[in-house]
Amino acid sequence: MIKQAVILAGGKGERLRPFTDTNSKPMIDINGRPFLEYLLEMLKEQGISEIVLLLGYLSEKITEHFGDGSKFGLNIKYSVLPLFDEKDLENESGTRIKEAAPLLDDIFLLMYCDNYWPLDLEKLSDFYFKQGKLSSVVAYTNKDNFTKNNILIDNDGIVVKYDRSRQELNLNGVEIGFFIIDKKVFEMFPNYKFHFEKEILPKLIEKKELAGFLTDHRYYSISAPERLESTKKFLIPKKVIFLDRDGVINKRPPRADYVKKWEEFEFLSSAIEGLKLLSQQNYDVYLISNQPGIARGMMKKEDLEDVQKKMEQELEKNNVKISGAYFCLHGWDEGCECRKPKPGLLFRAARENDLDLSKAVFIGDDERDFQAGEAAGCRAILLKEGEDLLGAVKSLIKTA
Ligand SMILES: [Mg+2]
Repeated sequence: MIKQAVILAGGKGERLRPFTDTNSKPMIDINGRPFLEYLLEMLKEQGISEIVLLLGYLSEKITEHFGDGSKFGLNIKYSVLPLFDEKDLENESGTRIKEAAPLLDDIFLLMYCDNYWPLDLEKLSDFYFKQGKLSSVVAYTNKDNFTKNNILIDNDGIVVKYDRSRQELNLNGVEIGFFIIDKKVFEMFPNYKFHFEKEILPKLIEKKELAGFLTDHRYYSISAPERLESTKKFLIPKKVIFLDRDGVINKRPPRADYVKKWEEFEFLSSAIEGLKLLSQQNYDVYLISNQPGIARGMMKKEDLEDVQKKMEQELEKNNVKISGAYFCLHGWDEGCECRKPKPGLLFRAARENDLDLSKAVFIGDDERDFQAGEAAGCRAILLKEGEDLLGAVKSLIKTA
């Protein structure tokens, strides 16, 4: 069991000046609260209440706000090192971790203070213990080219390359922190001031002791001003629901047939009521649907778009708005990443709209919907025979 999170938060945050002229980077305001509060809240939700903050630059800005953590339902300890010389600035991270050793558990979670990623601690721990390596790190698959890759993870989940300069081309992820570390790693620490990733990751890789957990879920960062806007959008509280279409909103066509034109589209009896209720409850609604009829030559993309347009017009009359619709247009056997039960469409919708999948719900009428929802980290609800959207929405609201 991992019970402790250690957060590196001592740097000067040069890129966030002028804010960081007078404050510590993770204290930057995100929708009315310091960014660090969001990280700590997520850790608490994941069952971690023991926090160690590794501080340096303007540490009092953090210690005065968070105190011993009791106000936040946490137990916070601090390890504060004085400011580093200019020449040693690069070597803060490793040195801070090493200095904090007496405060640290045998196995702990190590994070940066400037990346938010919806941690699933159970999934990550399972991965770590299954791999049986001294350390694991999370890497974003970067499918939207959000930034440049710096890590290569092989098919067995072992990190085989780390390129801090981000120059190499054959890489498959971006290291985002969220390390799980066995304290035995400290035996690799040198006797001088050092940069943690630069010094230690190559040693772990050489010994094949670093496992890599690849995630398709975008991470959100405060490391540079241009990233703040989407981070704010992502972290603002909102209710998000993904819906399958056929069999949830409209009558499902027979197997191997499709809704090819508007005349074939028939709303299920209580579906509009269900959608109205979602709207009244301020849910953002996205559709997630497999439509292989196009790849199979039975309809055109324009037919699908026309049905979508007319459906939305009909819903607008009922004050229901659809925030987005995502379709997999591939055939059954194309091996794409978006055809449910694969979760690709959900990850795409999340990336394009800055949504937190771990806080979203997915309702579908097919086992494959359920599997896609689970794989994306959503709360997945499967409509069984005789159940409908309205009923599901009613019980969702009751338990929310
Ligand atoms: Mg369906």
